[in-house]
Amino acid sequence: MSQQAVSQSDRLATRIMWGMAAGIVVGILARLAGGRAEWLARGSAWLAAEVFDPFGQIFLRLLFFVVIPLIFSSLVLGVIQLGRLDRLGPLAARTFAVFFLNMSVGLAIGLFLMNTVQPGRSISEEVQAQLVSQAANQAQEVQARAAAMPRLSFRELVEMFMPRNLLKAVVEFQILPLILFAILLGAAGTQLDELRRRQTQSAVEIVTGLMTTLVHFAMLLAPWAVAAMLASQVMRAGLDVLKALSLFVACVLGGLALHLFGTMTLLLKLFTRRSPGAFFRAIRTVLVTAFSTSSSNATLPTTIAVTRENLGVSASTAGFVLPLGATMNMSGTALYEGCVVLFVAQVYGVSLSLGDQVTLLLLTVLSAVAVAGIPGASLPLIVALLTTFRIPPEGIALILGADRLLDMARTVVNVGADVVTACIVDEGIKTEETRDADQPVRGKSR
Ligand code: ASP
Repeated sequence: MSQQAVSQSDRLATRIMWGMAAGIVVGILARLAGGRAEWLARGSAWLAAEVFDPFGQIFLRLLFFVVIPLIFSSLVLGVIQLGRLDRLGPLAARTFAVFFLNMSVGLAIGLFLMNTVQPGRSISEEVQAQLVSQAANQAQEVQARAAAMPRLSFRELVEMFMPRNLLKAVVEFQILPLILFAILLGAAGTQLDELRRRQTQSAVEIVTGLMTTLVHFAMLLAPWAVAAMLASQVMRAGLDVLKALSLFVACVLGGLALHLFGTMTLLLKLFTRRSPGAFFRAIRTVLVTAFSTSSSNATLPTTIAVTRENLGVSASTAGFVLPLGATMNMSGTALYEGCVVLFVAQVYGVSLSLGDQVTLLLLTVLSAVAVAGIPGASLPLIVALLTTFRIPPEGIALILGADRLLDMARTVVNVGADVVTACIVDEGIKTEETRDADQPVRGKSR
C-alpha cells in the first residue's frame, strides 16, 4: 500500500469529517433560527431545498455517472485478470460464503437486541396512532412499491438477471443483469489467446483508470457537498419522531455499531493478518461517503479506489468482490430489516415464535440481497416481510420518520462489510498463490 495514498486519503477523510461537523452545526443553527421567526423558518427551508440539496446532488450525480461503467469495467477486469476460468468458481464461492456469513451474523445481532430490549412494548397507543397518521401518505407509497415488486420465483429470478433487453435494464439502473453480463464477458476474455487477453485487459484497465480519476475529481467536492447534504438533513429531521422512537433507534444504532466494530474486527482477526485499527483508519473516507450518501452504489467508486490504493487489495479481487458487494452484500440492511419486522410486530402485539424468527432470518438474508444500493431501497422489502408474517404492513409508517438517519448508518455497515469481504477473499487468494508458487509446476489448465 502506498504511504502517499494513505496520507492523501487521511487528509480527505479529515476534511470530509470537518464538512460533516460544519453541516450539522449549520443545520442546528438554522433550526434554532427557524424556531424564532416564521420568515427565518421559510428562509432556511428555501436554503435547504434550493441551494444545499442541488449542491449535494452535483457530488452524488458525479459518483452516479461513474457507477455503471465502473461496475462493468471492474468486473470484466476482475475476472479477466484471474487469467484462468477455473479460478472463478473458488473466488465466487468464497465471496458469497463471506457475504452470507456477514448478513446472517448482522441479522442475528438485530434479532437478539430486539428480543432482549423489546422497544416496541414501550410505545403507547397515542404515540403509535400519531406516528402512523404522520407518515400515512409515505407509507402508502412504500406499500404501492412493495405491491409492484416481483414475487420470488425461478421465472422472476431469470427475469431479474437476464432481462430481454440488457441496455434497457442498464438505463433503468438495474445492476444485476449488468453484473452477470460483465462476469460472462470476463469469463469469455480468459478464453482468448494470451496476446488478445492482454490487449482486452489493458483496454478495460484504461476505462477503470479513467473512472477512478473521475472519482478523485468528485471527491474534491466531497467535504463541501457532505456539509450541504447534512445541513439539509438536519434542517428537515423530525426530532419528535426520533424522540418517540429513541429506544428503537438506539437498538438499531447499537446493533450496527456492534456489527461493524465487533463482527468485522473478529472477521479481520480470524481470516486476515490486518490490524483492525489500521483497517478502519484506512477506510474512513469510504465510511463517511457511505454515511453522507446513504447509497452503497454511489459509494462504490470510492470503495474500489480506497480498497485498492490504501489496503493494497489486488485489482482483480477488488474489481470482483466490491461491485457484487455493493449490490448483494447488505449486512447492515439485513440487521435493520430484522429489527423493523420485530419492532412493528411488538407494537401491534403479534408474537413471532423461534421457528418464525429462523424463517425470518432466511427470508431477510434473501431479501437483503435483492435490495438495491440506493437510499431507502429496503423499505418495500420490509413491507413484503411484514405481510409474510401477517403483521399489518401499514406498520411501516411507524419507522419512516427515523428511516433517513438509520439508512445513513446501515449503509456505512453495508459498505464496511464489503471491504472486509474483499480483504478476506484477497488474503485467501494470495495465500493460495504463494502455496502454488512453492509447489512444483504441474501444468496450467484453461
Ligand atoms: N441505502 C442502503 C444502501 O445503499 C440500502 C437500504 O438499506 O435501503 O446500502
